[in-house]
Amino acid sequence: MDINFAASFLRLIGDGVETDFWNDSWLCEVPLKQKFKHLFHLDEEPNVRVQQRVTWSDRDVFFNEKWRRMPSGRALGDLNTLRGMINGYVKQDKSRDSWVWNLAGNGLFSSKTLASIIDNSLLGNGSNMEFLKNSLVPNKVSIFIWRVLKRRIPVRTELDKRGIDLDSVRCPLCDDDVETINHSMFFCRHSLDIWERVYKWWGLGMVSNLSINEGFRGECNRSLSPFWSSIWQVIEWTCAYLIWNNRNQKVFSNSSWNGPKGLMEIQLKSFEWIYCRIKNRKMDWLRWISDPWSCFV
Ligand SMILES: [Zn+2]
Repeated sequence: MDINFAASFLRLIGDGVETDFWNDSWLCEVPLKQKFKHLFHLDEEPNVRVQQRVTWSDRDVFFNEKWRRMPSGRALGDLNTLRGMINGYVKQDKSRDSWVWNLAGNGLFSSKTLASIIDNSLLGNGSNMEFLKNSLVPNKVSIFIWRVLKRRIPVRTELDKRGIDLDSVRCPLCDDDVETINHSMFFCRHSLDIWERVYKWWGLGMVSNLSINEGFRGECNRSLSPFWSSIWQVIEWTCAYLIWNNRNQKVFSNSSWNGPKGLMEIQLKSFEWIYCRIKNRKMDWLRWISDPWSCFV
């Protein structure tokens, strides 16, 4: 899906003073000069305001036409359509003109809604590509990881590449570097702190980006059995998923997450997800947080 950002705003007419009759989108989703090109060139004043061209009385709508010469041929057909549209237009009760953002259900522009629309459109572009799956996590987590691997999460540098105008492309959490996917997932000092805590929890050595990438794909540099590979994959995926959630909470609600709380959240979520989905094994919460290798009975 291509998002036409400019065309997503529509003018709602109050008194018509601030809205350009031909150049703003108000009567339909495109400016009238695009929809009725022939008529536009015939208007005496191409920059006229709605207020000067349309008058509303209690019962009627008047179109105050001023043509350089009377429209004929194709333009005459367009004129009849335009007259009909103006006649059917219901004006706002408000005194001033306002904007409505037609990508949001409530008509109000918000960067959060925009981010989720971009999110869905990035996902939609490649939805026919196969993605990794781990039956121990909810689908939303598998989809998220697939998007990270396909570079389809809306970090600031990716939005910038797609022409979205941003104040800054720097990381919203640390402000130390530009926000790329690798920075956000691994190299940001806040993310690295979380990965280090997770590795320590599992008694593993140093964190390396390479092992994280392999873990995402279900491979691990330690020789693990298929069962433990799949459990370790859940941990890495949960960690990445919650790092991204935390980043969004910071951006949209300005709340943040500290290291110990982050680790606890990862322990809780991964426990909950595995506990509900695993077959023929029982899990012990206290062992899970102290020595996860001994938690399955
Ligand atoms: Zn950062």
